[in-house]
Formats: sequence, structure tokens, C-alpha cells
Amino acid sequence: LLVIEPERVWQLIDGHNGVARNLLRLLSFRIRATNARLRRRQKLGEFYRQLSFNDGLTGLYNRAWLNDALPKLVTRARQDGGPLSLVMIDLDHFKRFNDTHGHIAGDSALCAAAGVIRAGLRPTDFAVRYGGEEMMAILPATPQQQAVMVAERLCARMREAVVFDDMRLPLPHVTGSFGVATLLPGQDERGLIEAADAALYRAKEAGRDRIGT
Ligand code: GH3
Ligand code: MG
Ligand code: MG
Repeated sequence: LLVIEPERVWQLIDGHNGVARNLLRLLSFRIRATNARLRRRQKLGEFYRQLSFNDGLTGLYNRAWLNDALPKLVTRARQDGGPLSLVMIDLDHFKRFNDTHGHIAGDSALCAAAGVIRAGLRPTDFAVRYGGEEMMAILPATPQQQAVMVAERLCARMREAVVFDDMRLPLPHVTGSFGVATLLPGQDERGLIEAADAALYRAKEAGRDRIGT
């Protein structure tokens, strides 16, 4: 096709049904193959996008996701005039857990804690690994009082979650401290995180394994 002159090609198409049919078959094959290639590329792109926004150990959203999403959630809450709450979570005495049971068991405990948070939220909430053994729950359209109840529930479930190590032997339970903050008028995402952090600090000071506000 590429070497025959266009005029001659058209003559062949007009004059011979078989040539026209063969050409159509060839073209449709090419279109399908190109489509399949595009779809594969799209899927691969989606796969890498997910990888870049999710934490490899726990599967929760990661810091990169948070940096992208939290400002948008704050803006949306301001526009809608609805509440937005944030729960900052830090595992208690986790260094000691690692020192006692090893880093791999620590990873299992971290995954168990992440699982508790993920399972305890509504589909409209978000669970993020903020760093090390610090996690965060973002609760759109949730006032402070309701967010405290969510945090209480997560705290209780974490206390009871079973952690397994490699040998499938249960390890001691882990607990977490929780800091709850709700977006104030004029506050930005930084201020909201700082407020949740301060609340978390109060929970630690008050004895850990509890909620701070
Ligand atoms: P606190 O109750 O005051 O929070 O005490 P802590 O020991 O949890 O606090 P600290 O910040 O001193 O220690 C955090 C520990 O978390 C230290 C680090 O080894 C552990 N850690 C952080 N990220 C990971 C991880 O990905 N895997 C494991 N196994 N441990 C981690
Ligand atoms: Mg910490
Ligand atoms: Mg800690």
C-alpha cells in the first residue's frame, strides 16, 4: 500500500471487492492493535500513579498523596461551608516494640494498626501514612464531636487488634495516641495539621492509648 501510487490503489478498491475487503480487514486489525496498546499504556500509567500515591508497607495513602489532596479537601470544605476533621495517630512506645521484637515484627504491627484504621473509616474518609509510625485519618463533612467518636472507636480497636509475627505467633498488642482537630475559619491545611499534632501531644502527655482534643 505504501509503495503503490494512490490512484492505482483507488482503482483496485473500486474494481475489486476482494482488495477492498482485505484492506478493511488490515485496517481494522491495526486499529484494534493500537487501541489495545493504548489501553495497556493507560493501565500501566494508572498502576504507577497508584504506586506513587500509596505507601508500600501499609497500602495507605502516602505523604505525596496528602500534599496533593489535603489542600483540595480544605478548599472544598471552605466552599461548602462544611466541617473537615483530621485525626493524627502515633503508635505508643513503638521504639520499644521494635527493640523488643525486632523490626520485622514492628512492620507487622504497623500493618495491623494501618488495617485497623482503614477498616474503621467510612468510604468517604481517607487513611494516610504520614511518616514512620504516624498515621492520619481525614474525615470530610465531620464535626469535631463525631471525629472524637471515630477516634475513640479506632483507639479501642487498635488496643484489641492481634499482631502476628513471622511464625504466626501473636505478639503483644500495640496502642496508639490520637489527636483530633477540626478546621477553623481562616485555617489552612498546615494549621489543621499543627492543631491535630498539638492534640496528639496532649494525648501522649496524659498517658497515651487515648484521644486528645
Ligand atoms: P511515643 O509513645 O512517645 O510515640 O514513643 P515511640 O517509641 O513510639 O516514639 P519514637 O518517635 O521515639 O519512635 C518511633 C519508632 O518507630 C522508632 C522507629 O524505629 C519506629 N518506626 C518508624 N517507622 C517504622 C517502620 O516502618 N517499621 C518499623 N518496624 N518501625 C518503624
Ligand atoms: Mg512518632
Ligand atoms: Mg510513637
